[in-house]
Amino acid sequence: MPWPTLPRNPFRAVPDFRLLLAAILASILAAAGAAAAVPAAGGPAGAPPAGPADTVVLLSIDGMRWDYPAKTEAPALSRMAAEGASARTLIPPFPTVTFPAHASLVTGVHPDRHGIMNNEFLDRGRGLFRREDDASWLLAEPLWVTAERQGIRSAVFHWVFSYTPWHGIAATRRVPFSAATPDAEKVDRILDWLSLEGADRPRLILSYLHGPDAAGHGEGPESPAVFRRVRQTDRLVGRILRALAARPRSALVVVSDHGMAAVSRVLRTRDILGAGEARRARPVSSGAVCNIYCPDARSCTSAQAALKRIDGMTVYRLEDLPAALRYALPSRTGDLVAIAPRGAYFAHGGAPAPPARGMHGFPPDEMEMRGIFRAWGAGVKKGARLDTLRAVDVAPFVCRLLGIDPAAGLDGRVPEGLLSAARGSGSAPP
Ligand SMILES: [Zn+2]
Repeated sequence: MPWPTLPRNPFRAVPDFRLLLAAILASILAAAGAAAAVPAAGGPAGAPPAGPADTVVLLSIDGMRWDYPAKTEAPALSRMAAEGASARTLIPPFPTVTFPAHASLVTGVHPDRHGIMNNEFLDRGRGLFRREDDASWLLAEPLWVTAERQGIRSAVFHWVFSYTPWHGIAATRRVPFSAATPDAEKVDRILDWLSLEGADRPRLILSYLHGPDAAGHGEGPESPAVFRRVRQTDRLVGRILRALAARPRSALVVVSDHGMAAVSRVLRTRDILGAGEARRARPVSSGAVCNIYCPDARSCTSAQAALKRIDGMTVYRLEDLPAALRYALPSRTGDLVAIAPRGAYFAHGGAPAPPARGMHGFPPDEMEMRGIFRAWGAGVKKGARLDTLRAVDVAPFVCRLLGIDPAAGLDGRVPEGLLSAARGSGSAPP
């Protein structure tokens, strides 16, 4: 059962239909003469989508905490906020970790619906997930599929689950993941994509930058190494911004997946659950969150007791998880979910890697876990500023800029206040 909780997707069984549809859309578009003359999504059935932006670039910066740009020189991000829209903080989903957060950014739903519970977790039917590339793990539709379904070409240079087709649909251009690819090389390629002309030109471009995440883990959240990376990354944002400034109907959205908190203590799950009945429970952890999968009630009770002996540890049973965490997916969430005390994080096994000085994964109501949000260009209201925006709101926002319909039933909502009054689309009034 590789697809335990499939969302409905009319294109899955007949992927060739998508090509046919794209061809029909293209011919309608050609007949209409110009994309700008065609009604936006929500208009007459079959009308090709057109939004305020002709091209949207969505860029994610790993581990860029909300307050980093203001604590060093980040002129490109500052320019985006001054000339465009921003939120003081972007609220990631729980856990505040790269895979679940990037999945929420492009699906507009929380982990209990997109199914990516952490960088590592267990699916009770399928087995262990460990930073997999295979999009069949993702249970909700990502943005590039939403776009391609509606005849919009997309190009993705690294984003979780962009590497294989999702239900038979993939980004027109995609690049196999390699952790060794420098961020500057991704930006070079994005600029190449932006210079393409004709039907082949992507209108939606996504990319993931390594940003200051590794420096934050290794040196701590406010170390000189972190701010060096922030400045380097800002220069890359500046290159994209300058390229887009030459294309009047384009927009840039810059987000991050999570923040970073200082840590000084490692919690070794093998030691914590190393005695008695607890030994039979299986911990799968990443950062500040550990899912524990129990073969029976006795091992679960014993594991819970062992975890609770650690001062400050939060332990939930699957059935008692707070609804606000949006984390209960019985096929994948642990029988127990443990959240490390502040200043500590989980590690499995005894390998003495250099201990981390920074970690994330803690609940998103903690300010240090919050990320950044900037939007600039066509369709974006100049100077608009929100106190908070949620990661799940980013996908519907990007859809609105492009003038396409988001996937049905998202958790996220379009932040209307960040849009220019010019030309909306979809169901909401301008
Ligand atoms: Zn990280």
